[in-house]
Amino acid sequence: MPKTFLLDASAIIAEPSLDLNAKLITTGKILSELKSMETKGLALHALMTEQLEIREPKEETLKEIEALVSEKGFKTKLSVQDRELLALALQLSREKADLLVLTDDFSIQNFLAILKIPFESVHDKGIEKIMEFSLECIGCGKKYAFSDKLAGKCLHCGSRVRKKPEFREITG
Ligand SMILES: [Zn+2]
Repeated sequence: MPKTFLLDASAIIAEPSLDLNAKLITTGKILSELKSMETKGLALHALMTEQLEIREPKEETLKEIEALVSEKGFKTKLSVQDRELLALALQLSREKADLLVLTDDFSIQNFLAILKIPFESVHDKGIEKIMEFSLECIGCGKKYAFSDKLAGKCLHCGSRVRKKPEFREITG
């Protein structure tokens, strides 16, 4: 069964050897970023043979990802380009059962793991644990959501509230 691969810039640059029957998808922003680079063999070849399709995420899926990224405290970790890729990944994973995202970017891998969307690294080993953030008061330990309006202080005891990374196993 042919696989559908969603590629980010790092995966295209790495030029993985992929099945010729595989469907390759990327976003317009990622492709235009690559145009300025020397290494674009895979992208060019795939475009010429119509193996590579350019897709953009739907507005509603992008909004869904934006909301999730804020809710989970990853706003500063993921660029606009990353969020578009994640939105497209979410959209495609709902359309196609055989989607695999190829990316060497740890922040993107991490968020894909949170979304339970399958991914693979091209070069590196890839992330081994999922990192998620929590917001917690250093005084009384009260937990907050990232959407809470706190101005950095606990509403309960007035102590500083800090963003704390937590690690957990990747589950399929
Ligand atoms: Zn407190």
